Amino acid sequence: MYNTYLVRYGEIGLKGKNRPQFERRLMDNISRALKKLGPARVSRVYGRLLAESEAAPALVLEQLQRVFGIVGVSPVLRLPLEEEAIVAGALQALGDAAGGLRPAPETPVTFKVEARRSNKHFPLTSPELNGVVGGYLLENYPGLKVDVHDPVIKVRVEIREKNAFVYAADVPGVGGLPVGASGRALLLLSGGIDSPVAGWMAMKRGIEIEAVHFHSFPFTGEKSLEKVRDLCRILTNYTARIKLHVVHFTDIQKEIQAQSPEELRVTVMRRMMYRLSTRIAARREALALVTGESVGQVASQTLESLHVINQVTGLPVLRPLVGMDKQEIIQRAQQIGTFATSVLPYEDCCTLFLPKHPATRPNPEQAARAEEPLALEELLAGALERTAIEDIRAWG
Ligand code: ATP
Ligand code: MG
Repeated sequence: MYNTYLVRYGEIGLKGKNRPQFERRLMDNISRALKKLGPARVSRVYGRLLAESEAAPALVLEQLQRVFGIVGVSPVLRLPLEEEAIVAGALQALGDAAGGLRPAPETPVTFKVEARRSNKHFPLTSPELNGVVGGYLLENYPGLKVDVHDPVIKVRVEIREKNAFVYAADVPGVGGLPVGASGRALLLLSGGIDSPVAGWMAMKRGIEIEAVHFHSFPFTGEKSLEKVRDLCRILTNYTARIKLHVVHFTDIQKEIQAQSPEELRVTVMRRMMYRLSTRIAARREALALVTGESVGQVASQTLESLHVINQVTGLPVLRPLVGMDKQEIIQRAQQIGTFATSVLPYEDCCTLFLPKHPATRPNPEQAARAEEPLALEELLAGALERTAIEDIRAWG
């Protein structure tokens, strides 16, 4: 059975002097992901990472495919240094890589064997091994054809000190950079479709995220908060854990409703969210905000709105969805597992206080005037005081 996995990583290789640090981060993240399944070991050999786990290969691969920074994974058979074991292993690895495919003789599947012998005590040289293993496969797997230039399947045989490594499959990884390699940011997480995807995309670039959610209890109930916790839990599939800051936003929303002109309420509300997020980010040493905003989706996401909202923070605001259409966002949400939870019907705090005709082109002066009647400092301090921090970890 496969119990060893060769992990390839791409972009990290480009990072020059930072490389060891990136590698260590990736190794830690892999190790953490695999330990969910039982004992695991990760080591570095010749610029590649080797992960070991006795758990079922399908489960191991599922975990590894969620670790950012991994470009590809090959499950490896670790075999005794005996010719018989090696050829039998090569046959199994080839069959698995072909996915049970049994090609007909008239449409053969092309393959090649690539042997490497770092242990010179092994009696066969690399070219000899290529011949022996290749011959055995041709004899025992109908419908194969050798193509040394551009084969569909490459069967690798590595002769090491104590074992032979045999592998042929190359399972694609998710890519990106290891979470934690790019610092920390604060994700504004609603219960909607977009912000969890934005958080996932930020993590894909190596950013460790904490989340902030603005909650308008009792106008929005416990169920809507539980939904946000669930979204965080799903995102912990891709990282170790997520701190969730739940801000009591009710007083601010009531004040805005009472004091600010109706068409600017959304603008003011979003500026308050940004202000609070900026302060939480400072406390948590987060260097950026991440939102699920896109351009032009709704009134609060015109360029004019984004401009006015953005003015209240000095932090970079990352909007990973800006280049995506809604359909692409939905597809990504389905793929990462957040969609079904996002579409549960519980009210969001914003929808409750939504005006009928929000301003689509607010300007900075209007926004400032709309905020004049508010006791800003008091409101912000009050909401921060009533912010609870939860530590969200994966299920089970
Ligand atoms: P989403 O699907 O993420 O809710 P949306 O398309 O519904 O996004 P808005 O409701 O205008 O758009 O929100 C834009 C962004 O503001 C969200 O993606 C999220 O980052 C942030 N946001 C909105 N409401 C909240 C909330 N209650 N708590 C935290 N962040 C929020
Ligand atoms: Mg929303």
